[in-house]
Amino acid sequence: MKRAIFPGSFDPITLGHYDIIKRSVKLFDEVIVAIGINADKKYMFSLEERLRFIEEAFKDEPKVSVVTYKGLTVDFCQKNNVEFILRGLRNPADFEFEKAIAHTNRDLAPIETVFLLTAASTSYISSSIVRDVIRNNGDYTKLVPKSVRVK
Ligand code: ADP
Repeated sequence: MKRAIFPGSFDPITLGHYDIIKRSVKLFDEVIVAIGINADKKYMFSLEERLRFIEEAFKDEPKVSVVTYKGLTVDFCQKNNVEFILRGLRNPADFEFEKAIAHTNRDLAPIETVFLLTAASTSYISSSIVRDVIRNNGDYTKLVPKSVRVK
């Protein structure tokens, strides 16, 4: 049973995340989208909203589940028999950042990090750009799954 975790803040989930998750379903038996809880970070969307956006986006995909977690990703993996950490790569900056995290995680536990290169059509999308568009009343709906709606 190949089980992967896709950790992140998902504030909110974007079409970039959506693309990575959709494609990863072909590689793994189970994909756990895991929203990390960081008490020091300020979020635009509450934990409940972020969870609901992802659950709704994948309601027809039985291999995808959504959880929240605190602490180290590798600890979550070891407690839940997860062998793979999934991450998306958009550009060289992502690669450098992700490389350091992946090496650290490998030092901490025998868990492989698997990288998927973003689709060209969503490579420019980030949650922070989506939040900026929302704050400035722009049309964010082209950048996120249909489940993400601002009241
Ligand atoms: P974090 O706070 O951990 O960076 P994010 O929610 O921003 O959380 O990202 C989670 C994962 O999704 C990371 O691996 C990130 O590189 C990847 N990701 C973010 N945006 C995109 C995108 N447009 N295409 C592909 N992967 C992406």
